[in-house]
Amino acid sequence: MKDDVCAILGDIHANLEALTAVLDDARSQNVTSFLCLGDVVGYNANPHECIQIVRSLQSPTVRGNHDHYCSHAEPLADFQPNAASVIAWTRGVLDDDDKAWLRGLPFSCVPMQGVTLVHGTLDMPDRWGYVFDEIDAEANFAYQTTPICFHGHTHVPVVFERHGTSIERMEPPAFDMKRRIAPGRRCFINVGSVGQPRDGDPRASYVIYRPASREIEFRRVQYDINTAAAKILKADLPERLAMRLYYGR
Ligand code: ZN
Repeated sequence: MKDDVCAILGDIHANLEALTAVLDDARSQNVTSFLCLGDVVGYNANPHECIQIVRSLQSPTVRGNHDHYCSHAEPLADFQPNAASVIAWTRGVLDDDDKAWLRGLPFSCVPMQGVTLVHGTLDMPDRWGYVFDEIDAEANFAYQTTPICFHGHTHVPVVFERHGTSIERMEPPAFDMKRRIAPGRRCFINVGSVGQPRDGDPRASYVIYRPASREIEFRRVQYDINTAAAKILKADLPERLAMRLYYGR
């Protein structure tokens, strides 16, 4: 634990090129273990390959909404048309073993002392609520029992820090940002998205956490967007899903 260096990956969304680039970057930072915030599948064209890699990392992983719907035969009425069509496509390309693994993922977990993982929010994690502001974050903090909780789902990196009754919302700058979490503070940290960033920066986003120093580092990684986008088009998935990778929206 003393020299642990954890990489926290969220919203990989079947983007093999982004995942591979992030793993290379993580290894260059001497990362010793991985944690995964779910939505391993959906939107991009390599869901099976990304599941294989995440499983090989032996990373504690929680369930995202795409993981859930790609592995359960439930209606997709609540999804945007683009998301619904890629979920239907993903159901067709995953094998039984992939789906069984997705179905077995917990909604939240405590993989190490002081750290909780959840895809969206601890306030009803099976309802997939989005946390954009301090009011959304307050509902999560009511259920957060560890000093740190990592989450994803919005694809926008952000830190909510609670001190007493006040909650501060902080967006990391575009480049690497390191900060220590002060004792007594409680943090709800969105690590951004590996496979489909939506904060205007198209580079893959993830976080490195060093438990011994309580240090959080946001990292951005360039990857081969052309290849990822070409695969989306070749699979006949919606063109918009390829274009948005270039904009990071
Ligand atoms: Zn997602």
